[in-house]
Amino acid sequence: MKLDFPTLYVVILLNSIGFALVWALIAFSYRSLHAARYWLAALVMTCLSGPALVLGDGWPLLLYVGNVLVIGSFAVIWQGVRVFYGQAPTWHWVALIVAVSVGAMILFGSSQAANNIIFALGQIVAVALAIATLLSAGRRHLGAWVAAAAGGVLIVGQSAEAVTNALRLAGWMSTDAYYVLAAWFLVCAVIGASIWNLGFLLMTTDRLRADLHALATRDELTGLPNRRALGERIRFSEKSARRKDSSVGVLMIDLDKFKDINDAYGHAAGDAALKHIASVTASLLRDGDFLARIGGDEFCILLPGVNVVQASSIAEQLARSIADRPLNWRGNDIAVSASIGVAEWRPDSPVGLADSLPLADAALLGTKRDGRNGSSVYKPKPPLLRIV
Ligand code: GH3
Ligand code: MG
Repeated sequence: MKLDFPTLYVVILLNSIGFALVWALIAFSYRSLHAARYWLAALVMTCLSGPALVLGDGWPLLLYVGNVLVIGSFAVIWQGVRVFYGQAPTWHWVALIVAVSVGAMILFGSSQAANNIIFALGQIVAVALAIATLLSAGRRHLGAWVAAAAGGVLIVGQSAEAVTNALRLAGWMSTDAYYVLAAWFLVCAVIGASIWNLGFLLMTTDRLRADLHALATRDELTGLPNRRALGERIRFSEKSARRKDSSVGVLMIDLDKFKDINDAYGHAAGDAALKHIASVTASLLRDGDFLARIGGDEFCILLPGVNVVQASSIAEQLARSIADRPLNWRGNDIAVSASIGVAEWRPDSPVGLADSLPLADAALLGTKRDGRNGSSVYKPKPPLLRIV
């Protein structure tokens, strides 16, 4: 089968225009997704390179411009990947890659084969850097793997381009034989670039889903996980505790006479008090403990690997710390206290971890009844004795 170059160039151009439109829509719809702008810019550069490369056959300067646009577009794609992962763009590296490529073309690119080698190497360097960023530790999501694999296809195509042009220069391959193979290298570029963009799209949908999940599971006022997040965490903690055969301490916290703070100082003071309590409580917890705001002035803590005795002592310490640290609000020290209920869940329990929350809640009501500002442990009622 013989592939003709003009058709392939048209396919590359249409492909680039299509993906440029997609990224333009994404960049417009999700303004905070800055990487989309980089990927859009890179595709615009690819679209502009098409005519330059086709017309450049008769005008070498235009050919250089086309080559630089392609190498630059890959370097900009790499910057988009950096920005996607929260890293600052490194424009000096883009400038260096482009400058070295241009310098090499001016110095050594007098023959078409040598120019092709420089063009291929410039693309390989930029794509390899993008792959390295995609696969750096801790962020190997499916989309990143797909994009990295597509980058691999691009590198294979461009490496073959560089090798066959080197063979031409050495006189070991005829120009006709090269052109038969070169069309396939372009096919690698078409497939690689398409899948590369699909990988980025997958990364983007993954990111948007994660953002939505973060919004749905976080309490806006305190920044703590909310009730929904607690539900997810309970399932995770129960599984983990069953695996380790260890207990989970459960603390339910409700602020005392909180309505009075709102009434006396206003709702903004109440909000500040909630944030203050969230930060005092969080500062007392260890890694792996889980604190959520589950309602107005209600919080819940899961303490993995903690039995009821330890949980009770943590609750006492927490109640004391909250009472000892009044909120400073516009020059006033506002006293805040909390009532805490404690329960323990063990993997040999006939019920799930979620069923311990009402038990801790029952203990919390006991603390309220006993005068507030302290903690109580849930005590199961003794089984009724049947007298025969
Ligand atoms: P108790 O000791 O019996 O718990 O008395 P309380 O006044 O704290 O009563 P309760 O826990 O039933 O009331 C909680 C109050 O918390 C009701 C509401 O005015 C207030 N509240 C709930 N959510 C918010 C919030 O987001 N901001 C502020 N400022 N207040 C809130
Ligand atoms: Mg309350």
